[in-house]
Amino acid sequence: MSDCLFCRIVAGEIPADMVLRTDDFVAFRDISPQAPVHVLVIPVAHHANAGSLADADPLLAGHLLAAAKEVAASEGLTDYRLVFNTGAEAGQSVFHVHAHVLGGRSLTWPPG
Ligand code: AMP
Repeated sequence: MSDCLFCRIVAGEIPADMVLRTDDFVAFRDISPQAPVHVLVIPVAHHANAGSLADADPLLAGHLLAAAKEVAASEGLTDYRLVFNTGAEAGQSVFHVHAHVLGGRSLTWPPG
């Protein structure tokens, strides 16, 4: 989708600080990090959010979790938070599903 920011990052049209690139997934550092490690993990295929991905391709949804785990490990994290903001009311601002991998500091719950 040419009007999707993250599709454009996948296509290399917008630069990003890449952490991982496979045939199915791309991971890059968040431009506005909320923790010392803040990486976004996205499928190459465009799905609007976690729910629509789970409906359309549950296998890919599972593989996204595995990719997020690999990113956390490659960043040296044993403890980390995975966040899927799903829908504008929940804080989603980019409508291409992405896992936020957050870590590198103590993370309280609920988030402050
Ligand atoms: P969300 O609000 O859950 O949709 O998360 C979108 C995330 O994308 C936010 O944390 C933004 O800081 C991040 N973001 C927006 N534009 C870029 C970009 N060009 N490169 C990296 N991260 C971005």
